[in-house]
Amino acid sequence: MDCGKDGKAKGNGQPMVFEQGPIRPPSEASSLLLRFTRNCPWNQCTFCGVYKKRPFSRRSLEEICRDIDAVHAILEELKTLSHSMGQGGALTRPVLNAVFTSGSYSDLFRHVAVWAYTGNGTVFIQDANSLVLSADVFARALRYLKERVPGIRRITSYGRSSTIARKSLDELKEIRAAGLDQIHIGLESGSDEVLKRIKKGTTGAEHIEAGRKVVEAGMSLSEYVMPGLGGQELSREHALETARVLNAIDPHFIRLRSLRVPPRTPLYQEKVAGKFTLLSDDDTVREIRLFIASLDGIRSTVASDHFMNLLPQVDGKLPQDKEAMLAVIDRYLDLPPEERQLYRLGRRGGAIQGMDDLRNPSLRARLEQARRDLQAQTGSSLEEVITQLGDQYV
Ligand code: SF4
Repeated sequence: MDCGKDGKAKGNGQPMVFEQGPIRPPSEASSLLLRFTRNCPWNQCTFCGVYKKRPFSRRSLEEICRDIDAVHAILEELKTLSHSMGQGGALTRPVLNAVFTSGSYSDLFRHVAVWAYTGNGTVFIQDANSLVLSADVFARALRYLKERVPGIRRITSYGRSSTIARKSLDELKEIRAAGLDQIHIGLESGSDEVLKRIKKGTTGAEHIEAGRKVVEAGMSLSEYVMPGLGGQELSREHALETARVLNAIDPHFIRLRSLRVPPRTPLYQEKVAGKFTLLSDDDTVREIRLFIASLDGIRSTVASDHFMNLLPQVDGKLPQDKEAMLAVIDRYLDLPPEERQLYRLGRRGGAIQGMDDLRNPSLRARLEQARRDLQAQTGSSLEEVITQLGDQYV
């Protein structure tokens, strides 16, 4: 064992509970979620309301290991249940059904049971910036996790560029060797001016340094980009500079994430004060076109895996799929304005997945009826309704 001040795990016989934080990346929907730190140590980005008013704290190695022990205890309890049901200790469908129908198991217990049943083997370490832990503590926690929880095939975490840039390559390699396979960085923008305005606390140069280090340390790297974050004022610079920075990093994944501006964010106050002009959906699509067209000389996979993205089919491997991604965008922009509006209504309302759905006659008829009803029933303009639909999950 490699955990706790005296080198031994603590907390045997503890209740089967452990902490989880509020969010995970879309690509980690099937992962076991474990929390090594609480909330965000930076917490200043103007577009982000996730951790506002929640204080940051590091969890001690002993606390983290107690949580890992809790997961271990749940897996043991599942084996015992399986034996009692004549399933030989295996986590079979009847065992999973028993967990969900008995009413005596917690949501956490069920989370672990589903994770183990699917055999997915992925783990996501929360919260916003686990790399803020010392390399020694992080590595010891990861080793303990792999020792106590069988079947793990990939461990991922969020990390901030400014934190990663301060870590040495050897420290990152130590964390990699202990089991961290993948890091998601919220790059958001490569433009220094946009980064300054949104208070990201980093620069394009630091993004490049951090991203290259992650790749050199042998980890898979996902960079999240937020189209529209420069507003109308900096849209072109945001697209071009973000592409420039990513061209210098060549990350494994570039993930597009929709900007929404809910009232709890400082960016909303800037919008109200007229200091930030939100792009329309169509201008955001034009910005994405410029961004994709400017990606050059890299082999990244572009993923549009955020459920609020307008065009999920902007997705593919560079360089070979670049033209196909641009064609998806052009197909949307070439639609007549009424058609684009119908598409946006359907997409924001969760009724359609892509432009081909507009060819489905019954779905199309329902959308057109919904448009007529909304125009007749609400005091708001249809554009306001579409915006409200897009904001409903933030
Ligand atoms: S670093 Fe991430 S979690 Fe923290 S405030 Fe910025 S966007 Fe939010």
